[in-house]
Amino acid sequence: MRDIQMVDLRAQYEKLKPGIDEAISSVLNSTAFIKGPDVKKFEEELQDFMGVRHVISCANGTDALQLALMVSGLKPGDEVITTNFTFIATVEVVALLGLKLRLVEPDPDTFNISPEAIKKAITPATKAIVPVHLFGQCADMESIMKTAREHGLFVIEDAAQATGADYVFSDGSRKKAGTIGHIGTTSFFPSKNLGCYGDGGALYTNDDELAAKLRSIANHGMKVRYHYNDIGINSRLDTIQAAILRVKLRYLAQFNEARAHVADFYDEALAGVLALETPCRAPFSKHIFHQYTIKVKNGRRDELKKYLESVGVPSMVYYPGPLHKQEAYKFLGYCENDFPVTDSLCKQVLSLPMHPDMEQDQLDHITSSIINFFEKQN
Ligand SMILES: *Cc1c(COP(=O)(O)O)cnc(C)c1O
Repeated sequence: MRDIQMVDLRAQYEKLKPGIDEAISSVLNSTAFIKGPDVKKFEEELQDFMGVRHVISCANGTDALQLALMVSGLKPGDEVITTNFTFIATVEVVALLGLKLRLVEPDPDTFNISPEAIKKAITPATKAIVPVHLFGQCADMESIMKTAREHGLFVIEDAAQATGADYVFSDGSRKKAGTIGHIGTTSFFPSKNLGCYGDGGALYTNDDELAAKLRSIANHGMKVRYHYNDIGINSRLDTIQAAILRVKLRYLAQFNEARAHVADFYDEALAGVLALETPCRAPFSKHIFHQYTIKVKNGRRDELKKYLESVGVPSMVYYPGPLHKQEAYKFLGYCENDFPVTDSLCKQVLSLPMHPDMEQDQLDHITSSIINFFEKQN
């Protein structure tokens, strides 16, 4: 059996090697390392895939979030509502720009920001909502957009973990995660569903004006060369990464399908294990399983994790601590027990190995190890 990994980037590279190597060497030969032709071509290809008017590439997913907030028209002190159960990048950019963070609870089943919690958190100072499509499943965007319209709020979707996921509206129509709000952001960090071989990110928008402004701000606030309309930053996707992403984009749908098969297998194999809950699949989202995250009951999560490690099965806790308890975010002034749902998720969640190149003997070993663990204890 091949060694089991959370994400097997080597297996993927071996499969795509000829195309990737050729893409990289063609950039080397062109020496157009910044803003080379592959960058524009990748943006156009991703636009088509996403069904969105504009894709603006940038240096990473965190910058994408920062750029989105920079063009949102928000002023220091304006309130931004987001979930307490996410990767730190989602909240750090809000704090960095001097905006006021309002953390809210996730839904305990989908792990995504609770639309009800958003409604309760809105104050006259609220100006934006940042829903995160966590683990590859969409947040309840129809409900979130309705609330946003009622209160005139700007919506930035953090779609870093959901590249290619479909949101299904109640009338049956579909849009890709990240293309529903005013701006969507994503990351091409190597382990993401569409990952490059370094750092990379992008923004999505259907708004021409926002797109032009994002392009300018991501490039020092420059519209015409050496003329600066806005205070910008330097955040560009380099050409080698764009060339790699062009190759990988062609396989994204297929790779997401392969992940879904792995998830189906896990679901079925683990269905009888009463001590854990397999991931909930919301009716309004096609889940692309960036992570396959189970909930372990009865306080046995860490014990299970250790046992799995001893039999060669890696697993990860995303995320071990709520953000309001992190040293850097104590200034927000929340109390320890303000987020019981987040707290209990942080104690229960465990993400199992998940990538498109998992083999059947690996899956059998993982699921039988989990079943063994619980049978031994009972
Ligand atoms: C990965 C990730 C980011 C940040 O992306 P980087 O490219 O690493 O900066 C932001 N939000 C979420 C939810 C992520 O998973």
